[in-house]
Amino acid sequence: SYLSFSVTHCFCSFTATEEEMEQTFIMIKPDGVQRGLVGEIISRFEKKGFTLKGLKLQTVEQSFAEKHYEDLAKKPFFAGLVQYIISGPVVAMIWEGKGVVATGRKIIGATNPAASEPGTIRGDFAIDVGRNVIHGSDSVESATKEIGLWFPDGPTNWQSSLHPWIYE
Ligand code: ADP
Repeated sequence: SYLSFSVTHCFCSFTATEEEMEQTFIMIKPDGVQRGLVGEIISRFEKKGFTLKGLKLQTVEQSFAEKHYEDLAKKPFFAGLVQYIISGPVVAMIWEGKGVVATGRKIIGATNPAASEPGTIRGDFAIDVGRNVIHGSDSVESATKEIGLWFPDGPTNWQSSLHPWIYE
């Protein structure tokens, strides 16, 4: 029956890929929200096959933005970066999937939109590095830290029924 087919496949593919599953922290910055790019950006991650595990619209305080970007505190652009991030609401998300940290960075494109390839989010929708629309964790370690900061209650626990159609 269809049910036993899907259950069997779901069981096999899930156990085969469980240890390869990763989560990343993705944030649509205030310019992305103001410019109406939320749907477009979410759609790109959904269509790729990644699973949404957390989502909220939030305006953060200066101290919180400074904490998020603490590794960049000594950079000359730090103060401007913090002002940019607190200038309006952001969309904070957790996305899950095999290789989602590195692939998420590819979907986003290079930090400076002048160097981002067309087809990437920054390549398609941004011009200046200080208005580059979106953030994505740069490593599994940063992702764990950022998810802990933004989602203290952790991800929403659900499994997409599309798993066997996306994973071998
Ligand atoms: P990424 O966001 O691609 O991981 P970084 O961690 O190096 O890049 O920088 C964090 C953010 O700081 C960038 O996304 C960008 O918004 C901002 N930024 C980086 N470099 C500059 C710069 N030279 N001038 C202004 N803003 C910058």
